[in-house]
Amino acid sequence: MTDYIDKLKRCEEFFWVNPGFKAPGAGEEKVVDIDDAEARLLRFAPFIERMFPEVPGGIIESPLAEVKGAPAALNAPEKGRLFVKQDSHLPISGSIKARGGIYEVLKLAETLAVDAGLLKWDPETGEHENYAKLGDPEMKKFFSGYKVAVGSTGNLGLSIGIISAAIGFEVTVHMSADARQWKKDMLRSKGVTVVEYPDDYEAAVAQGRREAEADPTCHFVDDENSLDLFAGYSVAGRRLKRQLDELGIKVDKDHRMYVYLPCGVGGAPGGVTYGIRETFGEGAYCFFAEPTHAPCMALGLISGKLNDIAVGDIGIDGKTEADGLAVGRPSGLVAKAMQTMLSGCFTVEDEKLYPYLAALKDQTGIFIEPSACAAFEGLKYVCKGAFAPEPDENSIHVVWATGGNMVPEDEKTAYYERGRK
Ligand SMILES: *Cc1c(COP(=O)(O)O)cnc(C)c1O
Repeated sequence: MTDYIDKLKRCEEFFWVNPGFKAPGAGEEKVVDIDDAEARLLRFAPFIERMFPEVPGGIIESPLAEVKGAPAALNAPEKGRLFVKQDSHLPISGSIKARGGIYEVLKLAETLAVDAGLLKWDPETGEHENYAKLGDPEMKKFFSGYKVAVGSTGNLGLSIGIISAAIGFEVTVHMSADARQWKKDMLRSKGVTVVEYPDDYEAAVAQGRREAEADPTCHFVDDENSLDLFAGYSVAGRRLKRQLDELGIKVDKDHRMYVYLPCGVGGAPGGVTYGIRETFGEGAYCFFAEPTHAPCMALGLISGKLNDIAVGDIGIDGKTEADGLAVGRPSGLVAKAMQTMLSGCFTVEDEKLYPYLAALKDQTGIFIEPSACAAFEGLKYVCKGAFAPEPDENSIHVVWATGGNMVPEDEKTAYYERGRK
């Protein structure tokens, strides 16, 4: 352990295999009810389709693209197949946050409307009205009496802000001042109140939380502790299975799947990992990618201190250009669950993200943001024998591309150029 802590302190890259990993099976700890979350997203599909006609069937889902030709620049495996799960292209907010963030706000809207007698849904029988009515002007007026607040480095704020504004909630996003300008501009253009803080992300979140707690009509989306966010992310496992089924790809002990997920506070990759285990059972292995300067989940898991330790405590600055991953302290809820569910963690230097970004664009035409590129680093280790069971010709690898499609064109070009150099 001390070896790894030394590497963490020196901001060196490493790959760590979790000795606490347990294969999924009977007695798996239940964190959230995935059936319930999936059913809720189905109930809301007519509403989503009404408000966002660009979302087919009202189901917010992303393509699964195969990367062919095994380019070395992407660490593509020599044996087996490589896929990119394009959450970068999830509709509405262009990042993985369109899973958890939107789910949490929809659930809030449902609860408020049902409690006020304005929407019929019977949890016992499952019977319900058509949720498209939630887009009626009277409903929007009703929702405008409630507030939503969130602290965010960027993408969570985008997803919460956009969906809350569409529903009619009065929404405030607390952001650190170094968050990308285009994200702040886009939110303001949709009527979202953006409050900026000169301090870091943790300060922004703390402020948002305090303000929300003082106001009973305000719902605070708690990135570090929210089971609703986690539930929204967890549905991804079943959606991925359907996509693999369509391709005739099965996952089991002899047809293994290795999944690489960029990690910030841990909710998104943790929820997806939970959903993947529940859906695929044995034969699926998940790994988290973090920047060398903000490896909060690796630190929490390796030290065993979970969320009782932050990167600042071992003298790391937490500064990274991977803005979705710039988090100093992991979610306690997620760190605890990942003690047995996660196969391993690895860290990557910021400078490597851009060459991955450019190589993926060249090979497939797909643009993803720098944070999302961190996941490619994991292939290097897993395909070169650093993990058992080793992948073989029956294996698939899934790089979870967590964001990118909303990045403005000029910034996309600048990232790409930087990667080409
Ligand atoms: C938020 C985010 C992540 C990580 O999600 P967490 O829940 O913070 O761990 C990864 N990539 C991108 C692009 C993100 O926006």
